Amino acid sequence: MSQSLVTMSYIVATILFILSLSGLSNQETARRGNYFGMLGMTIAIVATSLSDTVNSYVVLILALLIGGSIGVKAALKVEMTQMPELVAIMHSLVGMAAVLVGYANFMDDSSTISGVEKTIHEVEIYVGILIGAVTFSGSVIAFGKLSERITGKPLLLPARHWLNLALLVMAIGLGQMFLSQAESGGGLAPLLLMTVVALAFGVHMVMAIGGADMPVVVSMLNSYSGWAAAATGFMLSNDLLIVTGALVGSSGAILSYIMCRAMNRHFLSVIAGGFGTGSGGEAAVIEGDVHPIEAEETAQLLLAAKNIIIIPGYGMAVAQAQHTVNEITKLLRDKGKRVGFGIHPVAGRMPGHMNVLLAEAKVPYDIVFEMDEINEEWGDVDISIVIGANDIVNPSALDDPNSPIAGMPVLECWKGDTTIVMKRSMASGYAGVGNPLFVKDNTRMLFGDANKMLQEVLKALKG
Ligand code: NDP
Repeated sequence: MSQSLVTMSYIVATILFILSLSGLSNQETARRGNYFGMLGMTIAIVATSLSDTVNSYVVLILALLIGGSIGVKAALKVEMTQMPELVAIMHSLVGMAAVLVGYANFMDDSSTISGVEKTIHEVEIYVGILIGAVTFSGSVIAFGKLSERITGKPLLLPARHWLNLALLVMAIGLGQMFLSQAESGGGLAPLLLMTVVALAFGVHMVMAIGGADMPVVVSMLNSYSGWAAAATGFMLSNDLLIVTGALVGSSGAILSYIMCRAMNRHFLSVIAGGFGTGSGGEAAVIEGDVHPIEAEETAQLLLAAKNIIIIPGYGMAVAQAQHTVNEITKLLRDKGKRVGFGIHPVAGRMPGHMNVLLAEAKVPYDIVFEMDEINEEWGDVDISIVIGANDIVNPSALDDPNSPIAGMPVLECWKGDTTIVMKRSMASGYAGVGNPLFVKDNTRMLFGDANKMLQEVLKALKG
């Protein structure tokens, strides 16, 4: 394929990626956005495969077959609740690729560039390996935390800020050493040392972050993986990889900002770690009587209500209850009830988790509302049903300055007439914080697996 045709294909792929991102920003256009992305990626892979940068088709096809089959197998096997872990481990692969490409570039002695161009290339290698290594180790730890193989509690080393600063200073110093040694054909030792420092930094950064801050970490690592891909693009002189990496990097950064705003947090204090852990003081002990309810009575309350709000959380994903939720919603709306969904920005275990589940179950988009819209309406709400949610409806975030999640905006369902909470026990949620909502006078607890209880409610509603 001629170079101009490759460039043309890259421009088309870039436009498709931009259309993809803009499509993904809205539920109604998300499916179309995905198709644009898939088409763009196909064009990018075909154009790169046919370009003159490929010198061994055997290696290329082998790599495509191995990587492709691992990807297909993982995607087919993964449960919806494991999606965030899969995303985290995929980010780690982008980081690893940047590190490997960096070392391959460093060892490549066929390059003929010299002078300033050579120095720029060496800076690209150094920065690429640095970002790649931080992304790799940080994503592996995030994978461990999200899959609960590693505790969600933060590792708060005594002088952790000084340690981070020391690692940063070391990375800069080693960079200077690398550039001066690379001039005379050396530089491997500082490069290896910096890789170890960057890996340690990635591990320490994510280990220090508390449970409730994980949404920001997931989107931040998404951003890092984009910058790692862009750095790989610079090393390989591949324009499309640079542009795609920059798109992922900047959209991930915007997502991190949105997540921080949703949790009322400053980005820097998230990176510094410790939120969602009790580091701010002792949260109040939850005292009071629990008022249980059965499915039959829940159905009666729903039939008597006019205005109903459903708040889905991580437990809905675990129970795969979204289809039953949709059936109940349809039935209640057919009976003339006003039913809406309140979505907290960090509900579930990945950005947009609840929207994806509700869209899968074909819940109409126009009855799915954001937290801020719903929080203005509680005065008119007769019943709210909290399905497998905990942290996102915890009043102590607003009432208790000592709570580890103090300051995080939540869905204030207790301001409505009656709240019915569906969960299996009194256990806490991801942030490990007790929830006073469960003992409020106007809260009723429907204990059990969310899908099983909802099916009983549905049966009672039909009966
Ligand atoms: P939580 O983790 O706070 O609570 C989920 C609740 O679901 C649990 O208390 C559990 O209680 C219940 N549950 C689990 N399985 C079932 C089941 N089968 N049936 C019924 N209930 C069930 O989830 P939220 O959605 O309220 O909050 C999300 C949390 O996750 C926040 O702390 C957020 O910061 C964090 N997070 C979010 C990410 C994101 O990007 N959205 C990423 C990483 C973390 P029980 O065991 O008693 O049933």
